[in-house]
Amino acid sequence: MARIVMKFGGTSVADIDRIRHAARHVKREFEAGHEVCVVVSAMAGVTNQLVAYCQSAAPLHDAREYDAVVSTGEQVTAGLMAIVLQDMGIPARSFSGWQVPIKTNDVHGSARITDIDATDLVARMGDGQVCVITGFQGISANNRITTLGRGGSDTSAVAVAAAVKADRCDIYTDVDGVYTTDPRIAPKARKVPRISFEEMLEMAALGAKVLQTRSVEVAMAQKVRLVVRSSFDDPDADQVVSDDPFYNGPGTIVCDEDEIMEKQIVSGVTLVKSEAKITLRGVEDHPGVAAAVFGALAKEQIVVDMIVQNVSDDGLTTDITFTLPDSEYEKAIKALDNAGDELSYQSISGSKGGAKVSVVGVGMRSHAGVASSMFKALADKGINIQLITTSEIKTSVLIDEEYAELAVRALHTYYGLDRKEA
Ligand code: ADP
Ligand code: ASP
Ligand code: MG
Repeated sequence: MARIVMKFGGTSVADIDRIRHAARHVKREFEAGHEVCVVVSAMAGVTNQLVAYCQSAAPLHDAREYDAVVSTGEQVTAGLMAIVLQDMGIPARSFSGWQVPIKTNDVHGSARITDIDATDLVARMGDGQVCVITGFQGISANNRITTLGRGGSDTSAVAVAAAVKADRCDIYTDVDGVYTTDPRIAPKARKVPRISFEEMLEMAALGAKVLQTRSVEVAMAQKVRLVVRSSFDDPDADQVVSDDPFYNGPGTIVCDEDEIMEKQIVSGVTLVKSEAKITLRGVEDHPGVAAAVFGALAKEQIVVDMIVQNVSDDGLTTDITFTLPDSEYEKAIKALDNAGDELSYQSISGSKGGAKVSVVGVGMRSHAGVASSMFKALADKGINIQLITTSEIKTSVLIDEEYAELAVRALHTYYGLDRKEA
């Protein structure tokens, strides 16, 4: 007997038929004798609608009330899932975040889970009940409902799995596993049977939204065994997930690097669109200048991504370029315009509509030349690179959004990731 957390994303619970189908997966595990907690997202499109309501009520709204509104989608699904399970003869009950409780800090809109009291969940599972828990939400020390950021139900599921000491956390979604790149962009993308936590973390952080980045961080830190698989599969088919290192069954196992036999130099390609770029020229070069630029942005809660700084020949001034989401562009320009005396520069310029394309792979640690071959592959397609950043296991470039998909497909082919035609 195992203890399993099963998470179903928005498309997997988009209507009552889908919820019923998802519930059949739960039934299979329950009837196999396993203890089960279920974590659910809002029905597809619901969270977007709730966010839009808040924005049209007031563009600058109280983040605590935003969370009160956008957290409601998950409560509907949790109740419906419990009803459907009961209708199938499975004892089930729903839990909102505060009822568990799932405690978080008070950063509304992107709260972090600080503690989960699993006592009641464990006791109920022991009594043969399925606990259905709302994803995406928790409760702060001030007794306010919080949400965990878009895609946050993945993190709820992993954190619940860690808290109840589950043997596995199964993430059921609308693709049948983690692919070498987004299969909606590159039809030749290949499902990977296994991926390391580290690679998955980079892939998620660099745009592969199949898992929320934070969920992979928590899984890695707490050693939660994650499986990404399709909820659309036949629930009655054999679904055994094996510990065999050459496992090639349903889904993708996210695990420690040493459990992976075949290590690729590049294991994935990712894309983030709608990236803006801002350049400050002729910034006075003295200690504290970068702190002044990025301090002014942080004060406005603007998160920047790639940063490049160049010192002028005379060593007196510097140019600083950074990227941020298109949606934050005007706010950032305003924040820098108003930064006042501590920040002096000659000019500010920038543009929206960039795309960040990255290649990720643990094999890059021990192989020289991945970055240069990436630049060559892009040059061969006539794609101009505007910015570059690298780390031990990834190289990212900023390019014009117009060429984003072309770049992803070109790199996917270049690194030999394309699916072999049957
Ligand atoms: P859910 O609602 O189940 O949480 P998401 O829409 O958040 O599902 O994530 C699943 C989607 O992630 C897929 O439909 C796919 O388009 C996208 N995706 C992006 N990159 C990848 C990747 N490397 N592998 C698999 N899916 C990916
Ligand atoms: N419903 C939330 C969202 O759409 C959380 C999730 O689905 O993971 O972002
Ligand atoms: Mg998701």
